[in-house]
Amino acid sequence: MADSKDQKQQDTMEKIVSLCKRRGFIFQSSEIYGGINGFWDYGPLGSELKRNVKDLWWRSMTQEREDVAGLDATIILHPKVWEASGHTSTFSDPMVDCLLSKKRFRADQINPLSGTAWFWTGATDAESDKVCNDKFSMLQLPGKDANWVRKGAMQFYKGRGLQSPVLQGETTEQVTNTTRYNEENGSLLTEPRAFNLMFKTYVGPVESNDNVAYLRPETAQAIFTEFKNICEVSRKAVPFGICQIGKAFRNEINPRNFTFRSREFEQMELEFFIRPDEVAAQFGEVPDGEAEGEPQPNWGWKAWHLYWLRKRLEWYASIGLTSENLELYWQKPEELAHYARATVDILFKFPFGTQELEGIAARGNFDLSQHQKFSGKSMEYFDESAKAKYIPHVIEPSAGVDRMVLALICHAYHEEEVTDEKGKTETRIVMKFHPRVAPIKVGVFPLLKNKPALVAKAREVLAMLRPYMTVFYDEAGAIGRRYRRQDEAGTPFGVTIDFDTLGENEDLSLKDTVTLRERDSMKQVRVKIDDLLHLLLKKINS
Ligand code: ATP
Repeated sequence: MADSKDQKQQDTMEKIVSLCKRRGFIFQSSEIYGGINGFWDYGPLGSELKRNVKDLWWRSMTQEREDVAGLDATIILHPKVWEASGHTSTFSDPMVDCLLSKKRFRADQINPLSGTAWFWTGATDAESDKVCNDKFSMLQLPGKDANWVRKGAMQFYKGRGLQSPVLQGETTEQVTNTTRYNEENGSLLTEPRAFNLMFKTYVGPVESNDNVAYLRPETAQAIFTEFKNICEVSRKAVPFGICQIGKAFRNEINPRNFTFRSREFEQMELEFFIRPDEVAAQFGEVPDGEAEGEPQPNWGWKAWHLYWLRKRLEWYASIGLTSENLELYWQKPEELAHYARATVDILFKFPFGTQELEGIAARGNFDLSQHQKFSGKSMEYFDESAKAKYIPHVIEPSAGVDRMVLALICHAYHEEEVTDEKGKTETRIVMKFHPRVAPIKVGVFPLLKNKPALVAKAREVLAMLRPYMTVFYDEAGAIGRRYRRQDEAGTPFGVTIDFDTLGENEDLSLKDTVTLRERDSMKQVRVKIDDLLHLLLKKINS
C-alpha cells in the first residue's frame, strides 16, 4: 500500500520536473555539460514566477509597512562575521561516507535498517602474504544471500590492496533500526564527521589563509552588521525590522528533491528587532502568548513571535497556500539552537513529504551581542520612549524563495479529464497558480492569424494590457491548442478576438467585445474591451 503511494508521489514529482523543463520553468544548470548537482536555472516562466514571489514578499514586508526597512548587502562579507555568528565553527552537518562506494550522506538522513549484520576482523591475501586488519561489516539487504554479502566484503579488502582476499573472523548478529549501513549496497558507513557547509573562496590574488572568504550561507548576518547604520538613517525606533532578499550558498552534502535542497538558492529574511521583555514591561503587563490586534509597546517576544507567524500565514494565504497545504511544526526544546527561545517551522505538503518552507525563530539578542563582542562596536540601542539602553532582541522569519516556488509549482499542478465539443476525452494539464503569482496573467489570441483585422485588433488589446500585467500573444495553431499551452503555463486568463469583436457577424451588440476564458473553470464570457483592463486587474488581485 505504502509502496504504491510512494510510487504515485514519485511519478507526480517526475511529471512536475518534466513539465518544468518542457514549459521553461526550471532547467538544470549547465545542462549541456551534463549539469551540476544542486544548481538550477529558472527559465522564462520560472523567472517570472520567482520574481512575483519576491516582489509580493518585499511589498508585504516593507513597502506596505512603516516599521520595516530594506537592505541589499553583499554576498561576500568580512570573514569575522562568520566567526561571530558561529558559522565558521558550527555551521556543519554530521556526514558519513560509504566505505564501499565512497558516497557521502548526511548522518541525520540515513534510514534505519534491520536485518543480519556480518562482521570480519580482517582479511589475508591468497596471492601474497599481505594482511589487512581493518574491521569491516555489511548488512544483508532483503533478497540477498551470504555470497552477496561476502562479495561486498571482498570488494572492501580489494580496495585495501589485497588481490584475492580471504575473509577472517566472520561473525553475524541481528540488528534493528541501525543507521550504520548504506541502504543502497549494505556497506558499513564511517562514523559521523562534521562537514562545513560554507563555500570558501579567496579575496585578492593570493590564495593564502589570510585571504579566505566565504559565500554567505544566509542573508541574515548582513542585516545584523548593518543594524547601526540603518538605525541611524531610517530613523525607525525599536520595534522595527530590516529585511533582505538575496542569494545564499551552502555546500549541501545531498542536494535533492529537485530545487528543494540546492547549493545556491535565495532567501527572504526579516530581522525584526524588539524590546527585551523587561523593557516592554514598562508599558504594561507583557502578554504571555498571542496578543490580538495591532502591535503594542508592551509586547514581549512571545506576542511578537506569534504576530509574525500570523502575518506570514496571511501572506501565504494571499498567494493561495492555506492550512490545507501547510503545517506548523514547533521545534522541541532539544531541537532548538542554543540561543533560540522558540522556533516554528511552516511546512508544505510536497509530493516527497511534508517539509520546511520557512522558519520563524525568536533568537533573543544572540546575534547583535556576538557582533558587539567580535567587532568591538557597540550594538546597544537607546530607546527614547522607554528611556532605556539595551541590545535589541530579534524575531526572524526566514524563508526560501526556491522552496516557495517549488511549493507553488507542486500546488498548481493538476491533471484533469476533459471532454471537448466533439465528445473526445483528453487529459488537460493545468497549472492552477493564484493569479497574483502566475508568470503570465493573460494570453491574447486572434482567432485566425491570416486575418489582418483580427491580428490588428488583438495587438491593440495587447498594447492596452501590457503596461499593467504580463501578457502573452499567441496566434499559432488552433485556438484550443493555444488555450492548452497557456493552461500548462498557468496563465489564468485568455482573451480571444474574433469576428464578433470586429462587428462582422450578425449580432452587432458584440462589436468591441472579446471572449474572456478562465483557466480553472474553462468558462467563457463576453466582455467589452473597455471593461477588460479593470475586470482583469480586479480578478488578479482578488
Ligand atoms: P533545512 O533543515 O531544510 O536544511 P534549515 O533549517 O537549515 O533548512 P535555515 O537555515 O533556517 O534552513 O534557512 C531558512 C530557509 O532557507 C529555509 O526555511 C529554506 O526555505 C531555505 N533554505 C535553506 N537551505 C536551503 C537549501 N539548501 N536549498 C533551498 N532552500 C534552502
